Amino acid sequence: MKKDNDKVDVLFFAAHADDLELSCGGTIAKFAKDGLRVGMVELTRGEMGTRGTPQLREREAQNAARILGSRFRRHLDFGDGGLRTGRDEELQLIEVIRRHRPSVIFAPWPDERHPDHVRTGRIVTDAAFYAGLRSLETDLPAHRPQVTAYYLQNYVVHPSFVVDVTDAWKTKMRAIQAFKSQFGASKKDPTIFISHPHFLEMIDARGKHFGALAGVQYGEAYVTKQPPRIDDVIAAYSGREI
Ligand SMILES: [Zn+2]
Repeated sequence: MKKDNDKVDVLFFAAHADDLELSCGGTIAKFAKDGLRVGMVELTRGEMGTRGTPQLREREAQNAARILGSRFRRHLDFGDGGLRTGRDEELQLIEVIRRHRPSVIFAPWPDERHPDHVRTGRIVTDAAFYAGLRSLETDLPAHRPQVTAYYLQNYVVHPSFVVDVTDAWKTKMRAIQAFKSQFGASKKDPTIFISHPHFLEMIDARGKHFGALAGVQYGEAYVTKQPPRIDDVIAAYSGREI
């Protein structure tokens, strides 16, 4: 994997490792395959995870990022389960955004079940704006992304756009399976919500549901506060019927 100080086109933020694989792994894989420079940043080290050691989960996370084609995956240390969102954390995120200079940022939709996801959505939104303030001086020049697009986790709201990830779906599932300590049956570890077979069936069903909304087999859905500009309306709705 390349150095983590690269300029990227798209930067994906999450609270915990595997959040991104589950909600937007297909989009990451598609972007990387299309030649976009993609980076992944988690705000915590996942130290509250029920299964596996932090070292094992870190190896799994790096392996998953390689499968998706991300140029790097780094994590900050804002605290898993009680994620901190003070000025210090905000400045760290501003540095990350100024270093990687993404055009588009992805973050959790802040109306969410897990408070760490809520806080991640909010602090990334705020940091993305502040990163563009020239009067806020850090070691790096100001940079403001074009948009923050929000991905959906537990709660589902009506999306602003859907990415066709049909061709990337197998890659997404391989990246999810790279988290061996988290998914699937284990004799010695407790069964957790995401290790139950129904969980991956739900991910599959959700991909198909969002895909159906957009007239394709598999889709991943996003919310933006500003609507996307569409240059080719006919192409945008191809494959669908009223
Ligand atoms: Zn999470």
